[in-house]
Amino acid sequence: MEKNALKKIGRRDFLKISGLTTVGILAGYTRIESSTPTGDLVLTNGKVITVDPVDSITQSVAVKEGKILQVGGNEKISKYIGLGTKVIDLMGKTVTPGLIDSHAHLPFFGLRENGWFLKLQGVSSKDEILELLAQRAGKTPKGEWISAWGVESLSLSYLNKDDLDRVTTEHPMLVVFTGGQWGFANSHALRIAGINKYTPNPSGSRIKKDLSTGEPTGLLIHYPALNLVRRHMPVPDHDQAEDSLLFAAKLYAAEGVTAVHDNFFSLGSPYFHKAYFELAALEKMPLRIKLWAYMPNFHISTRVFQLLFESKDLYPKSEIKDLIFYNRENPKLFTSLWGGFKMAVDGGGPTSHWYNKPGVCLHKQEELSNMFKLFHKAGHQVSVHAVGDNAVDLILDVIEAANRDYPREGHRHRIEHALSPKTYSLERMNRLGMVISTHPQWFFAWGDKWSGLKMREDFFGVIPLKSYLKSNISLAIGADPPAFPVYKPQVALAEAVNRVTQGGYRFDPSESISIQEALKIQTMGSAYASFQENEIGSIEKGKLADMVIWDRDFYTVPPDKIKDVKAERTILGGKIVYRCNGTKLS
Ligand SMILES: [Zn+2]
Repeated sequence: MEKNALKKIGRRDFLKISGLTTVGILAGYTRIESSTPTGDLVLTNGKVITVDPVDSITQSVAVKEGKILQVGGNEKISKYIGLGTKVIDLMGKTVTPGLIDSHAHLPFFGLRENGWFLKLQGVSSKDEILELLAQRAGKTPKGEWISAWGVESLSLSYLNKDDLDRVTTEHPMLVVFTGGQWGFANSHALRIAGINKYTPNPSGSRIKKDLSTGEPTGLLIHYPALNLVRRHMPVPDHDQAEDSLLFAAKLYAAEGVTAVHDNFFSLGSPYFHKAYFELAALEKMPLRIKLWAYMPNFHISTRVFQLLFESKDLYPKSEIKDLIFYNRENPKLFTSLWGGFKMAVDGGGPTSHWYNKPGVCLHKQEELSNMFKLFHKAGHQVSVHAVGDNAVDLILDVIEAANRDYPREGHRHRIEHALSPKTYSLERMNRLGMVISTHPQWFFAWGDKWSGLKMREDFFGVIPLKSYLKSNISLAIGADPPAFPVYKPQVALAEAVNRVTQGGYRFDPSESISIQEALKIQTMGSAYASFQENEIGSIEKGKLADMVIWDRDFYTVPPDKIKDVKAERTILGGKIVYRCNGTKLS
């Protein structure tokens, strides 16, 4: 039920909302004192979970010019209703702050969802994957690329070039693991990329070769090796880039997400730079965005850093020319999107770097340290991918040393993933002021594959949320699509509480946290991770009006139903950016 104040509002409804007498309402309405501002939007008669410092729960919110004007009981907020106010009677429904996803890859997510990539997530057998690839080849003109995303097997020998050559020798093909860190190419693709038995491993990556023949098997581990192939592949044009960003953003908005951190903003994908900034400038995105630019090595880090933040050259020829343009010509817009720099220590699955199972490190310690110092010294926030326990300790060593040489308070450097850190590492995370960007939703879809971690659970926890909180470590939550198949934030809230895999295995219940704690992490925690805790993350006076109306109440539904709670409306800066059809509220 939605109305324009008294113009459309039924008097009885208004009575119900305000709880005032008829005379009181009319008098109150007509006599709004000039000092009382009128809201553009009022949500009333609901359960408003504010996630303020004491997690107050109230009934109503008034919004003006995109910001929260006031929060409180129905009566208190009714005085902000004026002639032009849009009033939504929540009829008891629950409102929370907009959820904030601290780790996503919007361009790749959009390209996977809108069909640019053949989507392989959820396809369980190798035969089925090969069949889908063959179907795609059948529809693709000879000589054109076939690009697929989302092999979920953690085996590095799941596919090889012979499997893919049996699908087609007339199309070059690249099939990438869901995490994006490795992929399989067919012979045609290897030939185009010039990869043969003599090709050396690019630094930080591996071209897998057959032990007896020395020929490449088709497996390419980590971005430098993958990029040998990728640089020959078609890239989306500007419109396709915008389409895919909007496609992904709308999916998120429909799940109550109002802000997303793109944690792998690729400087090698310039077509997305302009798309991001243009969509933001035109306020077309139904989300707020923060970008962490991925830095593949020290050489590129130095060059990008100079071009973006030091060079006075007018407009140097560079893949990042659009970024340079926005930084200089519209610094306010640039700052609103810029999060910092992203680095990676290890990969995912078998390329993650564990003490008892060394994976593939992208950098030598010295390079890692030099890259980190470059950004740390200059005051930037750095977000670092580290999955394995050894990878986590390696980056903590680097951060500790950098902080010793160049002490900085409040840097909020982030570790992305930290799947199962050593217990002793938590003390150092806290001491160094780290933010851990974690993903409890991974229990749901990947937990059954972590057999090794299950066995070692007595020794250290997997996604140890309770221990993190006890150790006073700042947490943020992100879904990591398209690396992770499920992007719904409700699954993260549910799994932070339940820790149960699809197969029914429950990871250490002593590491469960409450739904209140989980919601706080996925709102205020993620906001803190991007230095935005004073702007978003809670429903408090003066903050941006990012809110979600839900069909049920996270705080009272049974834990196994948390993941099924649905967003009915998503509100960004006071504007409704998603409306669920078929609801009474429409
Ligand atoms: Zn990721």
